[in-house]
Amino acid sequence: MLSIHPSVDGGIRPGTKDFQGGTLVCRCTRDPVEVTIRAQTAHNHACGCTKCWKPTGALFSVVAVVPHDKLAVTKNGQKLSIVDKTATILRHACTGCGVHMYGPVENPKHAFCGLDFVHTELSPQTGWSAPEFAAFVSSIIESGFPPARMGEVRARLKQLGLEPYDCLNPTLMDVLATHAAKASGKLKA
Ligand SMILES: [Zn+2]
Ligand SMILES: [Zn+2]
Repeated sequence: MLSIHPSVDGGIRPGTKDFQGGTLVCRCTRDPVEVTIRAQTAHNHACGCTKCWKPTGALFSVVAVVPHDKLAVTKNGQKLSIVDKTATILRHACTGCGVHMYGPVENPKHAFCGLDFVHTELSPQTGWSAPEFAAFVSSIIESGFPPARMGEVRARLKQLGLEPYDCLNPTLMDVLATHAAKASGKLKA
């Protein structure tokens, strides 16, 4: 049986209406990093790219966004380090346990600037928004998944209600294209 991700393998738990946020805690048993989010997450999805943090054995990460100004590191931030300073998403990982705690987009020219990518499976609270789709599905091959089994993966994602896309979903691809068209002047800002 394929493990898409432990938080969705048993079916998707819906988010809670009016959920106001909570904390994310890394996996260190001593001095864990804590991040506090004062908002519900948006655009939660499974991601097959090679850069998002995945728990052991999972084919996908599950990742959502929150506005940067709703997120604060509240404990042991000295343990955080940026995984790749050249990436669009500046993933801040715990140097103790390797978990990615948050990833801001700081490039002012990027459509997602001002958003932080987070993994709500790290939260002791329940009620965060549920994953809605699967992005960068073909990219799991880059992590060594056999291409001949991609049909099984896409079928399982559909069965879970996570429509598979090989980039982002249409909503977010339209956001990126609109941003590019406004930047180039093809659309009025
Ligand atoms: Zn840690
Ligand atoms: Zn990803």
